Amino acid sequence: MAGTFNFNVVAPDGQVLNKNVDFVVVPSVNGELGILPNHAPLIASLGIGVIRYTEDGKVKRIAISGGFMEVVNNKVTVLANTAETSEDIDLERAQAAKERAEKRLQERQPDIDIARAEVALKRAIARLKAAEG
Ligand code: ATP
Repeated sequence: MAGTFNFNVVAPDGQVLNKNVDFVVVPSVNGELGILPNHAPLIASLGIGVIRYTEDGKVKRIAISGGFMEVVNNKVTVLANTAETSEDIDLERAQAAKERAEKRLQERQPDIDIARAEVALKRAIARLKAAEG
């Protein structure tokens, strides 16, 4: 048993998670990044996606929409633009956000902000993935 480390996730509204975990995988802007105990110090930019962490052998999920991660002294801190645990995700809201963004991207009205619709779609997909596993 390699041991555990502290995993702390903070969003603008407050703390989302603060636990001792076995393993964390975060969606960095350069791809997925796995963190085990005693990882070397690291700072990474995070994209829109799903964080997976293992606690007592069970995999759990958090949806995030960008931010930063710091790894230092066996402590991992994620500062996220938004973050929701799978239990806190409103599935209907995420499904509605996904359909809205898809409709905007399909219809391509003249005033559409394509980049905004694309990131809204990514956020909604990340929430659905985190909630549904
Ligand atoms: P929507 O169009 O449904 O508001 P959004 O992607 O524009 O979705 P954000 O701006 O990313 O929403 O988030 C605003 C706040 O609402 C944040 O605090 C975020 O954690 C929360 N939030 C957004 N969608 C959900 C959801 N499906 N379930 C739970 N919390 C959510």
